[in-house]
Amino acid sequence: MTALLDTFVSKIIENSSYTELDDIYLRNRILALVGEDNAQQETSQTELIALKDELLELAVANGKLGELAEEKDCLGAELMNFITPIPSQVNKEFWDTYAKSPQKAISDFYNLSKRNDYIKVAAIAKNIAFSTPSDYGNIDITINLSKPEKDPKAIAAARSAKSSSYPKCQLCLENEGYQGRINHPARANHRIIRLNLGDEKWGFQYSPYAYFNEHCIFLNTEHVPMVISQDTFRQLLDIVDIFPGYFAGSNSDLPIVGGSILTHNHYQGGRQIFPMEIAELDREFHFKGFPDVTAGIVKWPMSVIRLRGAAKPRLVELAEIIRLAWRSYSDVSVGIVAFTGDTPHHTVTPIARRRDGLFELDLVLRDNHTSEKYPDGVYHPHADVQHIKKENIGLIEVMGLAILPPRLKDELEEVEKYLLNQYNEMADYHRDWADAIKAKYPDVSAETVSEIVRQAVGQTFVRVLEDAGVYKRDAKGQAAFMRFVESVGIE
Ligand SMILES: [Zn+2]
Repeated sequence: MTALLDTFVSKIIENSSYTELDDIYLRNRILALVGEDNAQQETSQTELIALKDELLELAVANGKLGELAEEKDCLGAELMNFITPIPSQVNKEFWDTYAKSPQKAISDFYNLSKRNDYIKVAAIAKNIAFSTPSDYGNIDITINLSKPEKDPKAIAAARSAKSSSYPKCQLCLENEGYQGRINHPARANHRIIRLNLGDEKWGFQYSPYAYFNEHCIFLNTEHVPMVISQDTFRQLLDIVDIFPGYFAGSNSDLPIVGGSILTHNHYQGGRQIFPMEIAELDREFHFKGFPDVTAGIVKWPMSVIRLRGAAKPRLVELAEIIRLAWRSYSDVSVGIVAFTGDTPHHTVTPIARRRDGLFELDLVLRDNHTSEKYPDGVYHPHADVQHIKKENIGLIEVMGLAILPPRLKDELEEVEKYLLNQYNEMADYHRDWADAIKAKYPDVSAETVSEIVRQAVGQTFVRVLEDAGVYKRDAKGQAAFMRFVESVGIE
């Protein structure tokens, strides 16, 4: 056992540019934040984040802090700011190291973002993750339990908090160092790497609640809306050039088929190989005038054109030709509708990567039109699979990683009980699905039920992706897909 404040201060000195000379100063700055009573209580903790959590409890006991998680986050981020170099220094170290080893620059920044509790490593570990086989290869499923459920008291406090437009959104540069409040995340320990993409200034940061390995975000330093254009393709390919081993993709720029934030232009990336990347080409061809770019349709439930070549500008040029062609392309025989009046429905979800020394750009064709039969979107998960997923199918899902809502953890346990004919409180909206599983696996037992339910979730997610695919996987759909490709022009 050691004294709490002593231990925390020595850990800060160990993990920062502070030295022994700063010892008294650090103690006083920390006491100012957590209060002076019992600061030297005994602790068995030795890790920075665990020590920080004890200091937060002390701050609550000392009346320095309320009990809401959001309030603790603000002070917690401030405590971890002591081991986080200031932004100019983080940027200088990143680019100085990058000049010698890009890989080391990236891993140093990633490790800093974990060590200072900006990336919520412990919370992310709570997620339930599994893979299920499918006709398209293995599909990855994550039930997202990392974001803590909001305390009703926090919801009430947020409702009565005065509204603020600073920072404008969670992706704005102005979040760097932001104290946070009940309705905006704490970012005292947050750092952003500056970089140029073309003639625009962008930022690079990690995602605090990562969905996959080294999940990062690239953001325009201006609060400007998402727009998929030739610049998007160019910037994504530049990113995979600058960040070796990372993919980079963008959500599309239209509602229903886009991400949750359309108001601030941003991309996502990371060091992860997604099921879609592994999926092979159904057929290969060359677009007219582009003998140097291999093109093909990916064997995938969504409708993906993959371009592969050595020269970035050629991929950009061709991708823009395809995007513009898709933008105005309709084929009523298979429900492809480019416009309603002046309202456009067509866009793409682009994903870039490097593979075998070449550049790859996947263009996932999207259509957000709605109909009387499908008011949520013709290419949105249909009503019968919304009990598993009703949110938009964005970039990450498109690539074959399902991010499922936390409610499913308990709900799937109830489905298991139902399948075992035990007392259960299964939600009614799972009943048809559960009955179908029961019919398929009449011998389901306590030993097999969890795996059977997981497989069924995977199969349902494949259906979700098939719903989102504009060209269906049958002969009629694939012939229609080739009609579009031929309308662009192939050799
Ligand atoms: Zn913003």
